[in-house]
Amino acid sequence: MNVNIACLEGDGIGPEIMASAIEVLNTIAEIFYHQFTFSHNLFGGHAIDETGTALPNETLQNCLAADAVLLAAVGGPKWDHGVERPESGLLRLRKELNLFANIRPVDVYDELINYSPLKSDRVKDVSFVVVRELTGGIYFSEPRFHTENEATDTLSYSREEIERIVEYAFSLAKTRKGKLTSVDKANVLESSKLWRKIVNEMNKKHPEVEVEHVLVDAAAMEIIRNPRRFDVIVTENLFGDILSDEASMITGSLGMLPSASRSGNGPSLYEPIHGSAPDIAGLNKANPIAMLKSVSMMLRDFNLHEESKSIESAIVKTFNNGYLTSDLGGDTTTTEFTKHVNSYIEAFA
Ligand code: ATP
Ligand code: MG
Repeated sequence: MNVNIACLEGDGIGPEIMASAIEVLNTIAEIFYHQFTFSHNLFGGHAIDETGTALPNETLQNCLAADAVLLAAVGGPKWDHGVERPESGLLRLRKELNLFANIRPVDVYDELINYSPLKSDRVKDVSFVVVRELTGGIYFSEPRFHTENEATDTLSYSREEIERIVEYAFSLAKTRKGKLTSVDKANVLESSKLWRKIVNEMNKKHPEVEVEHVLVDAAAMEIIRNPRRFDVIVTENLFGDILSDEASMITGSLGMLPSASRSGNGPSLYEPIHGSAPDIAGLNKANPIAMLKSVSMMLRDFNLHEESKSIESAIVKTFNNGYLTSDLGGDTTTTEFTKHVNSYIEAFA
């Protein structure tokens, strides 16, 4: 299969984990006889330094023309106070590609339970997916402004925006355990009242899915108290951002969780949920698992199921053999970890 991938390595640990991803993709291409073509594009802080904008037009055009976009991480203290922010490039890219559905699987590896801050059997066998609305809500709605003495953000959703993300979540729930948890703040927020109403309406179309509504503050507690109760969580942009970072920690490290962002037409974007980790950038210490699992999600979307599984199983073999990066208490470097994953993929085929 020929796949044209737009790579955005970005900032911080971005280049290190992107190198890991490309190495693994090259191994897969060789073993399974595929042709993966990579374009390397300026994006984020480095793009600001070189071009003045976080999302140069050439990068955007390459992303629009690609079969998939692979993104590592953007941002860092160097650009925190500039007029143009790396993160604004990411928001623009999501909007331009119309990536309204952000899928964040949270799977706890039983072998790593001791590295979860919870260190508890409560996280054993935890497997759920956060479906986060990504192109609407408080991150985008107008008006938004601040002056010296006042600041305003707006949280607005249209019926159409809610329906398409909720429809996506119902479809996903049907392929899993058939349970959908809709997270909102319907006791306070108007947007949440519409959200809840639409979820209930759509449940009539998908009666085989069991729906529960949970307020966001209760959901934050439940992720710690009883994460096994969840199968698919659907929620708006800001709540999804916060809950998925929280959920990542029960797996042991922010460096574990991948994501896919989809539009339904046009290329999807795959990226780890963590940020650019400037504190460990350039030290060969980054955990590449979230990035490699993002690659695995990409391959699954191209119906390359064996290829996708070969990455997942190589990751498990690597840490089962005691190779852990420093965020999980080990001393395996990014490049060593990647080397082991590659050798297990070769053995898998
Ligand atoms: P953003 O604002 O982009 O979401 P953040 O403020 O959430 O970023 P991160 O850059 O994700 O912060 O890093 C938070 C902490 O987690 C840092 O200490 C970082 O070193 C660690 N971390 C994040 N990703 C990884 C990784 N892949 N491997 C090891 N440590 C990581
Ligand atoms: Mg963050």
